Amino acid sequence: MNEEQKPLNIILLGISGSGKGTQGGILRERYNLEYIGTGDLLRQFSKEDNAVARRMKQELAEGKLVPTWLPFYLWMNKLAHVSEKKGVLFDGSPRKIMEAELLEDVLDWYGRSNIKAILIDVSPEESFRRLINRRTCEKCGKSAYISQEKTEAICEYCGGVMRIRPEDNPEAIKTRIKWFHDEVSQVIDFFEKKGQLIRINGDQSVDDVTKDMIKAIEG
Ligand SMILES: [Zn+2]
Repeated sequence: MNEEQKPLNIILLGISGSGKGTQGGILRERYNLEYIGTGDLLRQFSKEDNAVARRMKQELAEGKLVPTWLPFYLWMNKLAHVSEKKGVLFDGSPRKIMEAELLEDVLDWYGRSNIKAILIDVSPEESFRRLINRRTCEKCGKSAYISQEKTEAICEYCGGVMRIRPEDNPEAIKTRIKWFHDEVSQVIDFFEKKGQLIRINGDQSVDDVTKDMIKAIEG
């Protein structure tokens, strides 16, 4: 098999507010990819009744972070159940250089050598502008960007009230943006050195980001 016939394995990288969720959905559909999302996997796992899940929930309640190996264990477990003919889309991972190295190693072992790491690259200024205007539905959890001048907003999916979450305050947003750039820059360098990185200008419209991604994937 040449690289083009091998299933496509996409690692989607981008800060919150980069439009990663929307673009990930488009890529999944277009290339029939199995979705491996760290957030979803952790949420599912937290509903399980076992010692590790109970400890994770307790630690999260105490404000601790999920240990590095846990998302990794969940990705691998999920990946083992995906047909080798089907491509995958990793979302929300890897965040640390160690995770990137391990992920590369495992994908290689599974024979998944056709890897494309797509970075939706949003400037810190644009990230801030989007996140400061983000409101989240208190009923269904979907978010949208709504000008601060608008006092009331209703969710277009479920009719719930859209509110600014406490963690979307200016200081917390600045910290998150800095954290993302500090930590993920190593992961980006890693994929760049491997020749697997596709950098997309994320300051553009949703449609233009999609067009650029498809052009880069399909050459
Ligand atoms: Zn809603």
